Amino acid sequence: MNNIPEIGTPARTEAVLNRYHLTAKKSLGQNFLKDINVLKNIVSAAEITEEDDVIEIGPGIGALTEQIAQKANSVLAFEIDQNLLPVLDDTLSQYNNIKIINQDFLKANLPELIEEYFDGQHNLKIVANLPYYVTKPILMSIIKGPVNFDAVVIMMQKEVSNRLTAVPGNRDYGALTVITQYLNNAENVFDVSPKSFVPSPKVDSSIVRLTPVENRNEKVFDEKSFFGFARGCFMHRRKTIWNNLQGVFGKKPEVKEQIKVTLEELNIDAGVRPEDFSIDTIVKLANKFHEKGLLS
Ligand code: SAM
Repeated sequence: MNNIPEIGTPARTEAVLNRYHLTAKKSLGQNFLKDINVLKNIVSAAEITEEDDVIEIGPGIGALTEQIAQKANSVLAFEIDQNLLPVLDDTLSQYNNIKIINQDFLKANLPELIEEYFDGQHNLKIVANLPYYVTKPILMSIIKGPVNFDAVVIMMQKEVSNRLTAVPGNRDYGALTVITQYLNNAENVFDVSPKSFVPSPKVDSSIVRLTPVENRNEKVFDEKSFFGFARGCFMHRRKTIWNNLQGVFGKKPEVKEQIKVTLEELNIDAGVRPEDFSIDTIVKLANKFHEKGLLS
């Protein structure tokens, strides 16, 4: 076992791709990692130990899966590409703590599968090198979904990572930031060069770590409604909160009056742009509009 180089080394990656006559499918976001340091650093960022059960999205030829399996209690991996199943059977044959499911992650019934494959006695983490064509839907399904994870460590386009980890006042700060950071601490752990993949993507990549926010000062009356409200607040980024709120609630004189009074009650300057608001301020606004019956 120890004589076989790890899957994520450039030589082994090339050998596996050649052996199975694989060409990466662009339509499925297949950019395989061939940099063992990056793979190990991803697993370190997730602080994986035997206390952890890990979900991976898109194992590809198994490079990251192998690294996770060496540290975790068990791994459940979702791979949409049926052609990769015999490859994974081969490359991961020496590990008995990995279950591969041939399924679109976005269509998976996660609570049911977690119940079926994990024992409920371990921490639950997600670790993945995401397919970039579907980063945002996958991210939203994790953040808004019914399962609470102890940590989510995922690779994505740097541009998306900048938005997830932005602070107020930053040009990347927007609805995606607010939705993500309402429930999660979001950190950019490190950047990854296109050279670490085969084939090389056209964009730079980053590893983001999400961990649950332990005690948020202000809680929202309803998460789903809050996420919609946050999107509305940032609909026109260059406009003021006053204009954006009219986009959300309408421009009838009585509604405008309610918006004006609400902003005054919260000591919010109507001329400020939403990108300057902390998440707590946006939460306060949502809760106040809910109290007044404008937001349900
Ligand atoms: N984990 C491997 C690595 O790091 O080298 C491969 C990562 S590659 C960027 C993304 C993988 O996700 C591919 O294997 C692709 O087939 C798979 N994939 C794409 N869309 C998917 C989906 N909706 N559900 C599950 N897997 C998906």
